[in-house]
Amino acid sequence: MSSFSELELSPALQQGLQALAYEEMTPIQAASLPWVLQGRDVIAQAKTGSGKTAAFGLGLLSRLDPSISRVQCLVLCPTRELADQVSKELRRLARFIPNIKLLTLCGGISLRPQIASLVHEPHIVVGTPGRILELLDKGHLTLEKVQALVLDEADRMLDMGFGDAIADVIAQLPAERQTMLFSATYSDEIRAISRRVQRDPMEVTVESLLGDEEIEQVFYEVERTRKTEALAFLLGQHRPESALVFCNTRRDTQDVAGELEKRGFSVLALSGDLEQRDRDEVLVRFANRSCSVLVATDVAARGLDIKDLPAVFSYELPSDPEIHIHRIGRTGRAGSKGLAIHLCASVEIGRIPAIEAAQGSAATWGRLNLAGGSRSAPLQPPMVTLIIDGGRQDKLRPGDIMGALTGEAGLPADVVGKIDTFATRTYVAVKRSHAQKAMEKLRAGKIKGRSFRVRK
Ligand code: AMP
Repeated sequence: MSSFSELELSPALQQGLQALAYEEMTPIQAASLPWVLQGRDVIAQAKTGSGKTAAFGLGLLSRLDPSISRVQCLVLCPTRELADQVSKELRRLARFIPNIKLLTLCGGISLRPQIASLVHEPHIVVGTPGRILELLDKGHLTLEKVQALVLDEADRMLDMGFGDAIADVIAQLPAERQTMLFSATYSDEIRAISRRVQRDPMEVTVESLLGDEEIEQVFYEVERTRKTEALAFLLGQHRPESALVFCNTRRDTQDVAGELEKRGFSVLALSGDLEQRDRDEVLVRFANRSCSVLVATDVAARGLDIKDLPAVFSYELPSDPEIHIHRIGRTGRAGSKGLAIHLCASVEIGRIPAIEAAQGSAATWGRLNLAGGSRSAPLQPPMVTLIIDGGRQDKLRPGDIMGALTGEAGLPADVVGKIDTFATRTYVAVKRSHAQKAMEKLRAGKIKGRSFRVRK
């Protein structure tokens, strides 16, 4: 590993790194920063947690001239959460560069304040392709002085259907620029977009995708007809607080979720055919820990922004080994131990060699004895979600709800979990033990001086 002090970074950036206590570069930083700082285009295979934000962030901040009040750097991200994370990290790195203006521009937030904040041009824009295109089309944003472009989690942006929007945004950038593309996988589509938007990019890949995370992986040979039984047994045995079950087809997600529900599990299914609102609700309930098992297709699970799941299960092995790597990458991140369990019917055995090659290690097989059945009752999720029929349009903010619950209603702050606000709805996670009381208090009292419908 090498230290940041070997790089030619401005004193302000060195100071920023010191304040963050970043000393050694992460592998992706060590491999990409020398090229990034030279202004070369790079295509890098890196996932969240690798330090990729600082890898491109230091590049952007090095090129930037704060005395020119024009958008000089643009970062496109798939989701608002990621855009917020990236903005936060860039702000931290830029702390000692005076007068840098950075704006985060994402959909799902009203346009007007964004338009107002664009009256004075920022130096850096981080956002989602759809919203940025909208602001460009309406003439509130110009990108003709952009020197550096980052496509962050490019594979996810393509999966989410942002391909055209990205192309339209890029069409408005100067041809003379640095383009950095980060992606967890290299598909043909990613290669194609790289060819279209990059010039002679340096390709940067660091070690195997599994890195040094600690993941316990076990494969079980189970006939297809007994898979749900095996799944219920293993869930009962390991009792993870949250588990993501991957299915290859939408139909399986429904069937498996239905079967698990019958067996008493707190389970939801997520597939691409849900309405946006139902999708949001499923994602919120799983993320706020009021549902312990989520059954999803690989594509649908991409919208899920949870970094370190305690356990993932494959109901069926994928035929593409890269998908297998993605699945196990969902657990055991950030130093926590992960569990990945794969159910494999005899017809799927043929997929094992490619999977072993992709993960760089032989499969470990476990033995299952389903005869005894699982004795322990399914784990209850620790939280319950309350739904308030009011949201951003009603100017309800998480702080207002926290205030209503801990103030007038007298609940201790630590029983309130995640609060997610949408345009017309708010989801509040409350510890199971206090859920009933919280609901009664919210129903009886007022939030911001108004009464709202509240239900579980
Ligand atoms: P990222 O992959 O960009 O989401 O970064 C993952 C986490 O690692 C973030 O919390 C960063 O603040 C942190 N990080 C990035 N680079 C370094 C470094 N060189 N040393 C220590 N932590 C870092």
